[in-house]
Amino acid sequence: MNNAIAERMSLIDSSGIRKVFALASKLKNPVNLSIGQPHFDVPEEIKKAAVGAIQDGSNKYTITQGVHKLREKIKAQQKERNIDLEEIMITSGVSGGLMLAFMCLINPGDEVIVFDPYFVMYKHLIRIMGGIPVFVDTYPSFNIPVDKIEGVISNKTKIIVVNSPCNPTGAVYSKNQLKSLADIATKHNILIISDEIYNEFVYGEDSVSIAEIYKNTLVLNGFSKTYAMTGWRLGWAEGPKWLLDEMIKLQQYTFVCAPSIVQYAGLKAMDYNAAHLIDSYKEKRDLMYNGLKDYFEILKPEGAFYMFVKTPAGVTDEEFVSKAVENNLLVIPGSVFSERNTHFRICYAAENKVLYKGIEILQNLSRK
Ligand code: PMP
Repeated sequence: MNNAIAERMSLIDSSGIRKVFALASKLKNPVNLSIGQPHFDVPEEIKKAAVGAIQDGSNKYTITQGVHKLREKIKAQQKERNIDLEEIMITSGVSGGLMLAFMCLINPGDEVIVFDPYFVMYKHLIRIMGGIPVFVDTYPSFNIPVDKIEGVISNKTKIIVVNSPCNPTGAVYSKNQLKSLADIATKHNILIISDEIYNEFVYGEDSVSIAEIYKNTLVLNGFSKTYAMTGWRLGWAEGPKWLLDEMIKLQQYTFVCAPSIVQYAGLKAMDYNAAHLIDSYKEKRDLMYNGLKDYFEILKPEGAFYMFVKTPAGVTDEEFVSKAVENNLLVIPGSVFSERNTHFRICYAAENKVLYKGIEILQNLSRK
């Protein structure tokens, strides 16, 4: 018996993100525009609900698919679609939902279409299941690359992953784009996984769920961003029963259930109106965009809290990020989210005074 790690672990690596953390650890008090989470704390009444749940003794396992009341509430919130309660399960964040879904769906060699740039977890989770991420480039518009999708579909294509509003680009797909995608998915009978974790963070038109257009969709959503509950690990999956049944079966042997007290606090969170927080993020988006648009090539993001900015000509993402770090600024190299190395990601979920500092440093770097 040796202690060798399973081969599947060689299919994933965390070098990109690790490099950024290593750089970050060298800085004492960096201007940090790297971390992908809201800068506000969990609203007081939601915290109280969690404490109350602990004191009430709601500390035991819940049923695998999550407490009934929370699923009822999620069902009631999806006014545009008539969902059965059995088509909703509570997960340990969107990450938990992704892991269950991919594990239940992907056979070795199956292909999963992912739009590039992408949320980094997709690539690695697909790979660890033995699947093959098939990247479809969305530069420079970051819209759904409708014309390119049919060209990459094969008899191995199992899933198309959609993330709108998108991390890292901030793109929000229009209803028309989603309809075109749904037409392709219908023609080839492909499941869509729609990661809608930023669906409240939109600054123009409301975000549309492709599940309203295309039935064969698994929606993943969560509480991490809207209520700043990133460490609490709460999300949900909503989709076809044939898939949910399998995901629940697997949850039983893995996560068991999402944290009980957090599920009860989640009930309170769903009553919380986060509109003022979202409005403040629109201001931050404008502040950042206006501060940078004359210095860099950027598309004005319509949602989430990121900007995906082109590095100056002839400078790679890593070179640019190293320069930023030398100037006490932390941003993430675009190649963490992409097969290209021409961009960097800014997260503008920070105090305005931090954003001003970031803008100043970035303006200076654009000239070098
Ligand atoms: N999807 C996207 C697009 C994200 O940006 C994140 C968090 N960075 C997640 C999923 C993970 O969310 P959770 O905290 O719910 O696991």
